[in-house]
Amino acid sequence: MCGIVGYVGVSSNPVEVVIEGLKQLEYRGYDSAGFAVLRNSKVELYKEVGRISNLEEKIKGIDFSDIEGIAIGHTRWATHGGITVPNTHPHISNNGKIVLVHNGVIENYADLKELLLRKGYTFYSQTDTEVIANLIEEHMKEGNSLEDAVILSVQELSGTFGVVLFYADEPDKIIAIRKGSPIVIGIGDNENIVASDINAIVKHTKNVVYLDDGEIAIVKVDGIKTISFSGKNIKKDVFVIDWEVEEMDKKGYPHYMLKEIFEQPTAIENCIRGRLLEDEGYVKLGGISKLEGIIHKVKKFTFIGCGTAYHAGMIGKYLMENIGWMPAEVDFASEFRYRNPIVSQRDVVVAISQSGETMDTLEALREAKRKGAITMGIINVVGSTIARETGMGIYIHAGVEIGVASTKAFTNMLVALVMLSVMVGRKKKLGIFEGREIVSSLKELPELVEYTLQKTNKVTQELAKKFSNYRNFIYLGRGYNYPVALEGALKLKEISYIHAEGYSAGEMKHGPIALIDENMPVVVIATKHSVYDKVVSNIQEVKARHGKVIAIVNENDTTVSKIADYTIEVPYVIEPLSPIINVIPLQLFAYYVASTKGLDVDKPRNLAKSVTVE
Ligand code: GLU
Repeated sequence: MCGIVGYVGVSSNPVEVVIEGLKQLEYRGYDSAGFAVLRNSKVELYKEVGRISNLEEKIKGIDFSDIEGIAIGHTRWATHGGITVPNTHPHISNNGKIVLVHNGVIENYADLKELLLRKGYTFYSQTDTEVIANLIEEHMKEGNSLEDAVILSVQELSGTFGVVLFYADEPDKIIAIRKGSPIVIGIGDNENIVASDINAIVKHTKNVVYLDDGEIAIVKVDGIKTISFSGKNIKKDVFVIDWEVEEMDKKGYPHYMLKEIFEQPTAIENCIRGRLLEDEGYVKLGGISKLEGIIHKVKKFTFIGCGTAYHAGMIGKYLMENIGWMPAEVDFASEFRYRNPIVSQRDVVVAISQSGETMDTLEALREAKRKGAITMGIINVVGSTIARETGMGIYIHAGVEIGVASTKAFTNMLVALVMLSVMVGRKKKLGIFEGREIVSSLKELPELVEYTLQKTNKVTQELAKKFSNYRNFIYLGRGYNYPVALEGALKLKEISYIHAEGYSAGEMKHGPIALIDENMPVVVIATKHSVYDKVVSNIQEVKARHGKVIAIVNENDTTVSKIADYTIEVPYVIEPLSPIINVIPLQLFAYYVASTKGLDVDKPRNLAKSVTVE
């Protein structure tokens, strides 16, 4: 979950690129940071525990203008050995020439270390990483070239690793290795940048090559060579990222999360652009045209995801059943992969992930593939591992999402799921008039989302002030809006550390109602849709037990406003799209509660943006 940045080139200052890149990865969470450069053929190492600003402080005043055009840097999330300067990456081999950074864990490091100790090597850190550097040195001592020594070494390593290294005597190249931890290479003008995440790259170039597991890239200023762990040449595709550099700025917002909440109208616009066929009540989804041709053979859809993406999948199930006329189920990716999911060649398994790198989702997808299922992705990051492994899918085009708590990626996942369901439904029982209604509502959605943001921004802020000191919350919703209740509760938990539970409103009387008293705020989604009357009764049940009700209602609702303590008004939209509107005040509420409490909204404790470990 840590970060890697490597630079080789002549266009920029390597230190600036590496430090700047590491800062773009800061949101991932880490405990120390360091980098290595080469000057007069000697490796120089700079390391510091804590934030990157500490490292910057340490190198203040050092002149890097005469270094060679190469550097590697790392933000560490310690697994082996404490958070100390000696354990901070980069690590260097005993001869002082091979220097590297590593994401992941070397499972057999103890055996390898033992072997190297017997050969006379000294270790200066407690990390598993340091063995890699000395192992490569050892293979070079045997007479192998750098490239061959790397190949021999990776064959001996077990575990997961993304590694980037350089060798002092061959300063024209950096070498990147991937097994399990993502590595991406940005191809620039007279410079190439290697990183664990495209965020560190987009400022320099939008052309990227993703390494797959079991691949090594030799990256020089004028080109890249990719080989397998057995040394065979591999041809790689170049992907073009559709993110704008300006998106990486906060643009005057105090936090990325708030900026991303307010970017939802534009993000949705980007997701639907060119995909809606209003007259036909249909959609054009180029990335799944293969599926379109075989949809009559499909028996079931299964959505898999984690966290917020799982909630999107839950709504996907309602959409697929109601609009798609198709049986559908949903599961946590982490559960799916360890149960015995009954899927066959007539099942479509849909992996939902913002980053496209979520390890649990990736492994669940691989399991579905092994069982012969048709697989597709609903993904934000173009060319990411899941996107490549499914080979078919819908990019959600939400743009860069930096806030750890997902907002615009969630609503765009929902938009993609609506479009997918329309595609499936129109091949089944969804009529042209219903199709047209959904498609034209999708077209109007960006404007309606903008209106909702303006309408709910102030009231959620005021409510957040009133409620920020409560210790527990319950969120209730039904039907399409049951997963929205879960998502609202998750947002609050993630960034404000307040205990919040989401329930189906109908389930409340079967247990959670025992929790209700005057100290329990209950957030209820009560917009005027199919289960409205039922939800109104559920609110009465809460009020009868003195719970404090904050209700999300449609404009001009008179029934709920009489019984709820507080209401937040949102505009009416057709039921399948209602989660997209209703989640907005919940996102804002969570944001304002956390910011009222003065918490680090964009980097909540213990969380990482893209969870690349199991
Ligand atoms: N296992 C290595 C260490 O503890 C790398 C950890 C990381 O991925 O940052 O240093």
